[in-house]
Amino acid sequence: MSQRLLYPSVADIFASQVVKDSFQKAWDDSFPTPETCREQGGFIYADGEGFRTFHISWAPPGAMESQSRREIDPTKSLSINLTTPILPDSASANAVLVATFHTHPLSPDAGGNEHPSNADMDNAYYRRMPGFVVSRSVLYYYNRVPGDEESDHRRRKTDNPNGYPRWAEGEFVEPQGAFLAGKIKWRPTSASNQRD
Ligand SMILES: [Zn+2]
Repeated sequence: MSQRLLYPSVADIFASQVVKDSFQKAWDDSFPTPETCREQGGFIYADGEGFRTFHISWAPPGAMESQSRREIDPTKSLSINLTTPILPDSASANAVLVATFHTHPLSPDAGGNEHPSNADMDNAYYRRMPGFVVSRSVLYYYNRVPGDEESDHRRRKTDNPNGYPRWAEGEFVEPQGAFLAGKIKWRPTSASNQRD
């Protein structure tokens, strides 16, 4: 019989105060000065009974940019890099990576995009891992393609628990272009350096 581990859903993850506090901290840290902003975020791990104890680790922030305008330079990526998950110090060795999160701090008025980008959603597919985007108006979550039996936004696959699940030899198929993205009615408290 095949076992299916019930990793936490988006709702389970968001119910955690540890997670909510980290989303707020990510937002606060996204505005280093009244002129600048940068993406902040990291990794959500779960362990303990039913994988309902959550732990956070942080990725290096994205590149600094002006809060007042989007630099138009397609050769330059300002996005945070979530390529390398880090097991949090507080987590046990068998903790499971269950989601990533990052902020989109640049205001839409300055050319920013609050919604998960195409690159974010592609990454969720390639990495087989749901993600959250913290924006000034709402919390977004996103995952794989519709029709996937794991489209309840849980982590897909059980191998490589401390990192992104691997694609087996010959298993990979190109994404079909449609990704799930949803919203949770939650937004961070404005950061002290945030210009709106
Ligand atoms: Zn993004």
